Amino acid sequence: MQERFVIGMDIGGTHFRIGTIDKNCRVCAFRKISVKEVFCTRDALADLRGYLTLYMEEEKLAGRIDAICIGFPATINRERTVVLQAPNVSYMENLPVVDYLKRHFGIPVYIDRDVCMALYYDSRKQNLPREGIVAGCYFGTGIGNAICIDGRMLLGRDGTAGELGHIPAVGSKEPCGCGNIGCMENLAGGKYLAKLCREIYVNTPIGEIFTRHGQEVLLQDFVDRIAMTVAVEINILNPDYILVGGGVPNMKDFPIHFLEARIREHVRKPYPEKTLQIFFVPDADEKSVVGAGIYAMEHK
Ligand SMILES: [Zn+2]
Repeated sequence: MQERFVIGMDIGGTHFRIGTIDKNCRVCAFRKISVKEVFCTRDALADLRGYLTLYMEEEKLAGRIDAICIGFPATINRERTVVLQAPNVSYMENLPVVDYLKRHFGIPVYIDRDVCMALYYDSRKQNLPREGIVAGCYFGTGIGNAICIDGRMLLGRDGTAGELGHIPAVGSKEPCGCGNIGCMENLAGGKYLAKLCREIYVNTPIGEIFTRHGQEVLLQDFVDRIAMTVAVEINILNPDYILVGGGVPNMKDFPIHFLEARIREHVRKPYPEKTLQIFFVPDADEKSVVGAGIYAMEHK
């Protein structure tokens, strides 16, 4: 019998990632291209279907795919069928993406938030059990958050649970992409580092910011705000495992030990601090695509 696969995809603000995953979660094909190469007309669903068809032809996958799964940097409805709000991929908002692709390809189609895919990937990589609470906090340009309870993602009433980046910060007047003012995302995400490089460290490339200025109060406070954000999650959930990842903690010379010390400082004593298990997870280009593959296999 021919080997079967799933297709994992990640549609981001800049890059479109797609890959073929076998039942052992091995990556058999992987592509990372500009979203502009995929979405070039005004009909986003037709563009997506067109690219998928082309991909399956080129990779000789016709009749060998069991499911398709896509991650978006977005809020998604509770039924996981429609992208509700996605500032960076707004052309995908309110389209029946699941129904449309299901109808055309005749196989199960799943969508979820990109951080859910990342959490599936990282949980698998760290060999974490399905039982219990696993929470992931990802500090990239913004802050991503996913909470998995006994192998199922926490959805919330409207499907928008896990918006940790939008906890309010005292005194901040920064407008946020979500429409509110003063969200933590603007103070503890990569956007803040970009702002520091624009306004204060004007001669420092962003990739050098911790190497050159990591000991200064502005950056120590920044890392402390990351710690506060993670501590909020821990204090609410008392998770079995907490994963911290994303582009920011993986930057050159990022003070990971200082971050862990600050997280422990902010977490309640003696519990949950005493039993806290924090994993700092590396970035991987194929993370979202493999995570989507795992997601598809777990939902089949
Ligand atoms: Zn916000």
